[in-house]
Amino acid sequence: MNAVRRLSRFAAAALVAFPLVSAYAADEPVLNIYSARHYSTDELLYTNFTKATGIKINRIEAAEPQLLERLQSEGVNSPGDIFLIVDAARLWQAQQSGLLQPVRSKLLEDRIPASLRDPQGNWFAFSYRARAIVYDKAAVNPADVATYEALADPKFKGKVCTRSGSHPYNLSLTAAMIAHHGEAKAEAWAKGVVANLARTPRGGDTDQIKSVAAGECTVALSNSYYFARIKNSDKAEDVDIGKKTNIVWPDQQSFGTHVNIGGAGVLKNAPHRENAVKFLEYLASDEAQVYFANGNNEWPAAPSVKPKNAALESFGTFKIDSMPIVELGRNMAAAQKLIDRVGWK
Ligand code: FE
Repeated sequence: MNAVRRLSRFAAAALVAFPLVSAYAADEPVLNIYSARHYSTDELLYTNFTKATGIKINRIEAAEPQLLERLQSEGVNSPGDIFLIVDAARLWQAQQSGLLQPVRSKLLEDRIPASLRDPQGNWFAFSYRARAIVYDKAAVNPADVATYEALADPKFKGKVCTRSGSHPYNLSLTAAMIAHHGEAKAEAWAKGVVANLARTPRGGDTDQIKSVAAGECTVALSNSYYFARIKNSDKAEDVDIGKKTNIVWPDQQSFGTHVNIGGAGVLKNAPHRENAVKFLEYLASDEAQVYFANGNNEWPAAPSVKPKNAALESFGTFKIDSMPIVELGRNMAAAQKLIDRVGWK
């Protein structure tokens, strides 16, 4: 995420500037959010929440590793109330590290589908994105890349671009492949993808899409919002990329396209727990769901909410993998080992 990468440069300064709030001030109208997410529409989320509740929001925005480091060093004295991050792999890691606490909320349970939240309430998805395949329209018949499995087909030797296999997006996809196919088949798949790589993995998903448009490869893995961002852009470069490339929702005939989430949970030592739950409930509201999802060209987790977004509307509907997101977490460690074994650097 470019915004996050940009922010991480300022993370050190932000960490110092953040006002520490006393852990004894539990009834203060304050909420401290640690966020690895920043989009301009998020500003409206925060100001509208404060307007509606009178609860003032303090934010730490940094890349996830810096936030984790900070939370770990603060320990029980952390002023953090909410942890806002993307990707099931990261939410799972936060939960496994004991950083989150369970929340029971009828509103959240009613609004957020069970497959998009932790059964114990440690985290809830507020948006979801799909891991898709982007292809060169001039070089590839979309029927030939209708599945993730096709990326390992020898006919795509030297034609596949991806970011690092260890990146949470590919880690989560690999965890899904393990859940659906078992470890041995998933490993054969990952090995096949690595054998087909056009070049050593580098850059983010947008770089993979650009590489397809530039003819460096013909197929690439990308999250849906990166492609949607290009489709919604009127910059000449993006319009050109949009003309040369298209997107496939993989595995429509089997388990459905792998999806991942943007989500949040209440931090273990949250000094303002009640305010934190109020904030999560606010994020599930119709209004907040539109801002949260649209800000990053994602789909709202609450199924009844339909934001106006030209690119997303043009994508139409497709079958998504209904496997509970929590299952990904269970396969995450195995996925990382598998990726290391096959050398998906
Ligand atoms: Fe991203």
